[in-house]
Amino acid sequence: MCPHTPPCPAPDAADREAARTVVSHPEQGWSLLCNGIVIFEDTGELLPGGATVAPHRPTDLRLEHEPAGPGSPAAPAPAA
Ligand SMILES: [Zn+2]
Repeated sequence: MCPHTPPCPAPDAADREAARTVVSHPEQGWSLLCNGIVIFEDTGELLPGGATVAPHRPTDLRLEHEPAGPGSPAAPAPAA
């Protein structure tokens, strides 16, 4: 069923999400993996047997950190 070498992880394998993507619909927020799993952009999964896996990874973490020091833009201007 899997044409890849080495073969993709089985849908019940711990690393199942490492299977190759065969269909991708980023505009709809899901991808079909080679092992039959549909994975959603919120990290939820739909397994081949019909079982579902709830989103299990945070997707709302901000990796950007804007510098916010004491000299913030809200500081009042010095009086003349
Ligand atoms: Zn494969």
